[in-house]
Amino acid sequence: MTLYAGTIIDTPGDPFAGDPADALAEVGALLVREGVICARGTFAALRAECPDEPVTQLAGGMLVPGFIDTHVHFPQIRAIGGLGMPLLDWLERCALPEESKLADQAYARAVAGEFLDGLLASGTTSALVFGSHFAAAMDELFAAAEQRGLNITSGLVVSDRILRRDLLNTPETALADSTDLIGRWHDRGRLRYAVTPRFSLSASDDMLDVCAQLLGKGVWFTSHVNENVAEIATVAGLFPGARHYVDTYRRHGLVTERSVFAHNVHPDDTELAMLAEHGASVAHCPTSNCALGSGLFPLRRHVEHGIGIALGSDVGAGAGLFLPKEALQAYFIQQLLGPDGLALTPVHLLYLATRAGARALGLDDRVGDFAVGKDFDAVWLAPPPSSTLAVNLRHASDVTDALARVFALATPADVASVWLRGQLAAGQDPR
Ligand SMILES: [Zn+2]
Repeated sequence: MTLYAGTIIDTPGDPFAGDPADALAEVGALLVREGVICARGTFAALRAECPDEPVTQLAGGMLVPGFIDTHVHFPQIRAIGGLGMPLLDWLERCALPEESKLADQAYARAVAGEFLDGLLASGTTSALVFGSHFAAAMDELFAAAEQRGLNITSGLVVSDRILRRDLLNTPETALADSTDLIGRWHDRGRLRYAVTPRFSLSASDDMLDVCAQLLGKGVWFTSHVNENVAEIATVAGLFPGARHYVDTYRRHGLVTERSVFAHNVHPDDTELAMLAEHGASVAHCPTSNCALGSGLFPLRRHVEHGIGIALGSDVGAGAGLFLPKEALQAYFIQQLLGPDGLALTPVHLLYLATRAGARALGLDDRVGDFAVGKDFDAVWLAPPPSSTLAVNLRHASDVTDALARVFALATPADVASVWLRGQLAAGQDPR
């Protein structure tokens, strides 16, 4: 067992349901046994209970739950920074040429390592990862994630039209390859499988039927929806029988409690009602939406419909893997929306980067906060003493104010240590 002592902050509550301040909790210590939190409280009380256990003192900064990224593309880790293009041009010129290179398994292995190490260096311990179009590349990702102990849900990306020819599969090969991958990786340790059509724009009705067949095996589902107005118009032309973009998935039984849709920047109210009715979640990707000029996310309307929202970095369209930056950008967007926006507090931002993701991914019985019984997945944010963040933390009036300063100023350079189920995964052991 290990006793962790310091400023320990999480959001056991839901700041979107009631007073945000009530959703936040701070404790002085956590007791961890075999990777699982077995007690939380004051340092004095836990020390008295366990006088002989080793103590890890986290001096300065704060310990928060590991970040949970609900939308990030592993094959795009080498393609960040393609600015100045809307979605469909960016895909064609920036993202898809890089994704094609993952046909080479050795290339995919190198990319998988860079991607997962990047997540860890950013304090991300769980992620719903948009996969590769190549099954062998998926084997590389899953194997590398298992080796590192990360909590990863991912799957083969399937498409059978309107995409580079070398990225297309057929419904038959998609079914066979995905079934094999599910057998090898789903529910193996911390890994799970997600059926992943790129978007209905590039997936025919036959391909979406295959996705439904695969989802019936008890795995997860993810895709894109309502990101860009040109994309939405194209989808409407491809599915004349569908009521709207969300319905292109719903008609095939793909809008479920195990479904996470990225973006949803331009939904109408019937789409929001449909997502809510089926219990699906939305991954909000703020820096990507801004970089591609996709639009300003209607967070308030999602909350009013009771839809679960979490954050996605959407790398490579997003501006990096560090989720606090996404949280800050989400805050900026809501400010810019004026009366249509939802003013986010620092408590909302921590919740969106941690527990909201766990809930969207159905992992909230295991990760997302520091409740007793959950895995000890944690990030120690501890800035160098002379940094502007350290200066600001010394002048914070309380824990909420300190959180605000973290979200305004923190970068991956402030990630001092990361734990995965109690194992130190990255950074220096503070002992
Ligand atoms: Zn995406």
